This record gives sequence, C-alpha cells and structure tokens, in this order.
Amino acid sequence: MDAPATAHKPKGTVKRFAKAVVKHAATGFKKTPDDVFEMRQKECAKCEHNNGKTCNKCGCQIVGWPNKLAWDSESCPVGKW
Ligand code: SF4
Repeated sequence: MDAPATAHKPKGTVKRFAKAVVKHAATGFKKTPDDVFEMRQKECAKCEHNNGKTCNKCGCQIVGWPNKLAWDSESCPVGKW
C-alpha cells in the first residue's frame, strides 16, 4: 500500500535511523514505560507533523514496528516529548 500523499522522508532519514538503533542498543534496547509510551502516542496523535505512519520531521515510524515511541532512547525532534 502506498503512503499517504502528505508523507515524505526527510533527507537523512536512513542515517538518523542507524544512529537511533545505535543509541537504542546502548541502552540495552530499553523499551519505553507504558505510561510514557501512551503520553508520546497522545502527543503524536494531535501533532501537525504526523502523517499517519511516520513523523514528517524526523522520518521515523510512529505506528507499527519499529516504532520510535517504544524506544526509551528516542525523543521528539521538536521537543513535544
Ligand atoms: S515525534 Fe514529535 S514532531 Fe514527530 S509526530 Fe510525534 S510529536 Fe510530532
């Protein structure tokens, strides 16, 4: 299935993902606590940069797997969480 028309991959997405994996590994692949995951979901759900599957700011997937919301080492690129 094609991504929504508004979805785009910001330049450097693959490099950012590789760095995120290294950071995630450095924490022992620590997952986000449930309450923090839910807070992140709520913030992304109402965010103008959410295209329904990925974040248009960082290009990271925010639903399904892999999902940056579930990685404790991750943060929002515009400081919403
Ligand atoms: S990670 Fe941040 S900028 Fe991206 S969709 Fe979520 S709240 Fe918005």
